[in-house]
Order: sequence, then C-alpha cells, then structure tokens
Amino acid sequence: MTDKELYESLSYGRKNVYLEISDAEKAEMKDLCDSYRAFLDKGKTERECIKEAIAMAKAAGYVDLDTVDSLKPGDKVYKLNRKKNIIMAVIGTEDIRNGINIAGAHIDSPRLDLKQNPLYESMDMALLKTHYYGGIKKYQWPTVPLAIHGVIYDKDGKQQEIVIGEDENDPVFVITDLLPHLAQDQMLKKMTEGIEGESLNVLIGGAPIKAEDVKEKVKFSILKMLNARYGITENSFISAEIEIVPAQKAKNVGLDESFIGAYGHDDRVCAYTTLRGIVDAEAPKRTAMAILVDKEEIGSMGNTGAKSAFMMMTITELIEKANGTCSLTDLNKTITESACMSSDVSAAADPNYPSVLEANNATYAGYGVGIMKYTGARGKSGTSDANSEFVYEIGKLMDADGVIWQTGELGKVDQGGGGTIAQYVADLNMDVIDCGVPVLSMHSPFEVVAKSDVYMAYRAYKAFYKR
Ligand code: MN
Ligand code: MN
Repeated sequence: MTDKELYESLSYGRKNVYLEISDAEKAEMKDLCDSYRAFLDKGKTERECIKEAIAMAKAAGYVDLDTVDSLKPGDKVYKLNRKKNIIMAVIGTEDIRNGINIAGAHIDSPRLDLKQNPLYESMDMALLKTHYYGGIKKYQWPTVPLAIHGVIYDKDGKQQEIVIGEDENDPVFVITDLLPHLAQDQMLKKMTEGIEGESLNVLIGGAPIKAEDVKEKVKFSILKMLNARYGITENSFISAEIEIVPAQKAKNVGLDESFIGAYGHDDRVCAYTTLRGIVDAEAPKRTAMAILVDKEEIGSMGNTGAKSAFMMMTITELIEKANGTCSLTDLNKTITESACMSSDVSAAADPNYPSVLEANNATYAGYGVGIMKYTGARGKSGTSDANSEFVYEIGKLMDADGVIWQTGELGKVDQGGGGTIAQYVADLNMDVIDCGVPVLSMHSPFEVVAKSDVYMAYRAYKAFYKR
C-alpha cells in the first residue's frame, strides 16, 4: 500500500455521486428527476402535494386505512389528516410491535399567504395584501411572476379550488418594486428592511369599469370577475386559504442539466423521494411508514404539523388492526422500537458564500444525501442529536446498499442554524436522525438541488425500509 492509499483509507472523504455511479444508475436518476419535476409543477401547496401523494399511493395499491378492519403483512394503507397531512404504511412480515421504520418529510414551503381581508384599491390599481409564511428574504419576492393557489368557499357553501397563473394562457401576478432611480433611500436600508412585509402586495388588476356612485371602480371590477368565476364575495376570503407562489415551472439548470431549479424543494424534494422510497420498497420485514407533514416552516405546530397527535393515533390504529388489540404497553413498545429518518433539506455549500460554512462539516451539492447527527443552532439548541449507536447503524445500512451520503451541519457554529421535525418525533422516544438533500438558495422563489443528491435521497429511503 502506498502512503497515498494508506492516507485515503485512514481519512474521511466525500465522493461526488457522478464519479461513482453506473450508466444504468444515471438513467434511473434521470427518470426519477423528470418525475420529480412533474410532481413539483403539480404540487405547489401542501394540499396539492397531498393529492399527488394519494394518487401515487392508490396507483401502487394502497387503500384508505379507514376502509380496512384488519391488516396482514404486505397490506398497504394510507391515512389522511385534514387534506394536509398523510401517513402511508406497508405492514411488515414481523410483528408490528417490533417497531416501525418511519421516514418523515414536510410539504409546506415558504410563501405568501393572502390576509383574510386582502383586496384593496389604490391609484386605480387593485392589490392583495399578504402575510408571509415561513422564513423568507422579503426582497426576493417582488418582480417575480406569481401564481395564486388555494381554497375558498362560494356563496352556496361549496369549496372552490383556485389555481391561476400555471397554465400557458393564464395571466400571472406580481409584486412591484421601486425603480433604481428613486431608490436612494431604499438602497441604504438593511436587507431585512429594504422590502417591508406590508409592501408585499400583489397586483391583481387595473381596469376600472364605469359604475355610478362607486368610488373603487377597479376593485368593483375584480369583485365582479371573482364572483362570476367562483361565486365568491369579499367575505369569502375570511375563511379562505390562498397562497401566492412563484408561477415558474421546475427547470433543469446548467448546460449539463445536472441541477433542478424550482420553487419548493424545501421540503418537497424529501417528500417526493420518501414517497417513491416507500412505493418502491420491497416487502419489508418491519412495518414501513412515510409521513408527510404540514406547518414545519412555522414551527411544526397545529393539528397537521409534526407536533400533532395524528401520528401516534395512526400508529395505535395500525397496531390495533394488525394485532387485534393495542394496549398502552403495545404502543409504548412499538414506539420505542421504531426508528425515523427525519427528512429535510440541508444547506448546500455555496461557492458565492464560502465564509458562512465550515468546510469539513458542510454538505455539498452532488456529494449525495446528507445524514446529519444533529441540526440546531447556537450550542445545538433545538435538535434531537441522534445517538451514536443509531448514527452508526444508519451509516452501515446506507453503505451496504451503495447509498452515497455525506455528513454535515448547517453552517459555522456561530453563524445561525435551524431545526426541523426530528426533535418532535424524538420526543415520543424513538431513534431519529436528520437526513436530506443539500439545497442552494434555500427558501427563495427558485431553489436549486443537484439531481444526483435527489437520486441518493431516494436510494437512502429505500435502503432504510430494509432495516
Ligand atoms: Mn425544511
Ligand atoms: Mn425550510
């Protein structure tokens, strides 16, 4: 052995996926990423992602858990929670009380929500007031073509689904910004203040109609159009959930098309690969489960977020239906023996901003799925910090299946950080590890991931279900 070989065998080294995989694997990667782009274009809200998940589940033979009285090995079921949160499960050949292999990802993404009384007129223009959702850099959202997605009740009490801005022939919407010529004061502001939350108003119309004794003639026109099209009035917005998202479709990025640029990679890239992972998993020994949650970007609260009792309730139901009964001891044993891949994106090292990362412990685009012992910020605050035994076990499992993965954490120790659903799942007393795809420009209207990392995330979830 030469010194070079010995050194390499003794040291940690990341591997670029492209240099390691076969042509057949590259072809599989391309197919997966083409399907993923289609998923992103159809799923721009949590509700739309759930629809896609149900379609994928049904196509793979999954049935609604509510329609099933008992479960046997190989049975595939899904359980829906309020159209924004779903669990899919494949019953294992082993006793379910030996534990469940769970992969979890979130399907909400940072965006602008409409306020409950959003429509107003100013200077013969009609606009919609928004309240941003999740951690956005506000300056990134003006001058970007936007689409409107959501649900709203009409005057007859029927829930209407709105999607405008996605079809080739649809109009789009936009938030305007100041011209540089008049932006002297704005340009001197801190980036956090350059665009204020109350300036994120979406332009929705500008053609007044002739109307006697009506002052707001553009708003009047827009209300009439909305009423004609959806049967709604201004009051309808009060109970509506309408999200303003980038109208841009997912695109291949780079001359070599090695990346995908899109809105919502965080965390639909992990959601999609988790879905594909469970759908493609071969008859598992332990029961396999995938959970897609909402509300991660605002702290995982709410009845559709990771803190909701929904997962525990569904696991109880699964045990009951697989086992005939579920005592508290059965539930406790199952949970304690279960393990979870908390699948969420990590920060990809960015050549434009090398100063925020610590090179040895960063995740790099193209170097495979990130598997992280902990996330958190400032002294590991807000992380579950996986146990050594579990990190070791998962690493071995990945290696055995040819999954290319890398370790990392979110930037320099004092730079910032973040957390995700891992800690809430760990609170239940199961082993949890953070894993996911490195993302460039995270939380922006056009996030970027390497296709090779998407592929390795998929391989990782599939391997995990063999545990
Ligand atoms: Mn995330
Ligand atoms: Mn996020």
